[in-house]
Amino acid sequence: MTFPKKIAIDGTAASGKSTLAEKLATQLGYLYFDTGVMYRAVTFVALEANLDIDDEKVITELAERIQIDVQPPSVADGRTADVLVDGKDITWLIRSPRVERNVSQVSTYGGVRKAMTAQQRRIGLRGNVVMVGRDIGTVVLPEADLKIYLDATPDVRAQRRFDEKRLRGEDVTYDEILAGILLRDQIDSNRAIAPLKPAVDAHIIDSSGKGIEEVYEEALALIEDPIEE
Ligand code: C5P
Repeated sequence: MTFPKKIAIDGTAASGKSTLAEKLATQLGYLYFDTGVMYRAVTFVALEANLDIDDEKVITELAERIQIDVQPPSVADGRTADVLVDGKDITWLIRSPRVERNVSQVSTYGGVRKAMTAQQRRIGLRGNVVMVGRDIGTVVLPEADLKIYLDATPDVRAQRRFDEKRLRGEDVTYDEILAGILLRDQIDSNRAIAPLKPAVDAHIIDSSGKGIEEVYEEALALIEDPIEE
């Protein structure tokens, strides 16, 4: 009997993927790798440089050029990792509403996905990893030995994200968060390349009406279910 070494967690925006993945990674002593930060990093740098987000060629060249690093947290401010681009700490900057409004567009570009997927796959193949994203179980790491697809109703997800942001002192409204989540899901699910969808062999967990602990226990039960060898 062995436990899964490569765990893929995909799902809709704000469905609780990161919280679940981080808890599982801590429990198992695995690397927690949130692939969304890479698409956010490309988007942030593009916006900072005033590049045209609709210009696929320019954005793809940027994605191929920049060095994105994800390292253990150096500051105890609620972050789960440091996100660095060319040495600069952009951990919180990639969570801005402006990045959130543009990231799904950037993520539709094949060249951007190719550059990000290659880096993600290299890390994922080492194993002992919990990877989070939209296409981990389907494209990045189809050989993952446990795949979880997390979802919840849009209202539940928007409320959770709203509470988180208010706790951090951000000036946001529930309605704008809900609209942002719906728009991202719509673009992520309908793009031509690596769209958001559960892998055929994914375990689907609906976290609506469930607390963090309940979802965690459900996932843990899947992990403790031995894999046939
Ligand atoms: O997970 P997170 O909300 O940080 O992801 C931000 C965006 O990055 C998603 O809305 C999606 O457009 C893109 N993404 C992706 N593929 C992944 C992870 C994230 O397309 N594996």
